[in-house]
Amino acid sequence: MAKRALINVDYTVDFVAEDGKLTCGEPGQAIEAKVVSMTKEFIDAGDYVVFAIDAHEEGDTYHPESELFPPHNIIGTTGQELYGDLASVYEANKKKDNVYYFDKTRYSAFAGTDLELKLRERGIEELHFVGVCTDICVLHSAVEAYNKGFKIVVHKDAVASFNAAGHDWALGHFEHTLGAKVL
Ligand code: ZN
Repeated sequence: MAKRALINVDYTVDFVAEDGKLTCGEPGQAIEAKVVSMTKEFIDAGDYVVFAIDAHEEGDTYHPESELFPPHNIIGTTGQELYGDLASVYEANKKKDNVYYFDKTRYSAFAGTDLELKLRERGIEELHFVGVCTDICVLHSAVEAYNKGFKIVVHKDAVASFNAAGHDWALGHFEHTLGAKVL
């Protein structure tokens, strides 16, 4: 069996909570139990679990997202904290060797980060994606994973978007264009 990792994308207060700055709203909240149970399952199995979390500097006008979206996931704010029970699961497990949290710089978890190095060092070949948004950060991360030759698994009950049409389109794209297993 291919060595696998769980890639937890942007499941934070700003992207999920009712009053989040860029929230997916109800669809985002509806996947909480699944995101949490999968995270626990992978951690307990000794698989590598990555928290790839959007991070912005306050007032950073150079970031390309500053022209597209209101400020969100500002470093040090509650908006950037993991949402719901995922926060306590992370807190309880963050010192483990197989748990890795890092700041994302762009939509893709690979852009300007050491994620690929961490995965290659561990011989990981298969990436399981959960989190938000299906058609933005999960999509861009999965496309880059595909280009780098990773096998991709997307858990459709553990990804969500504010855009239902975009969510459905992305699930089809994962399966038919990236060769992903959509479970
Ligand atoms: Zn962002």
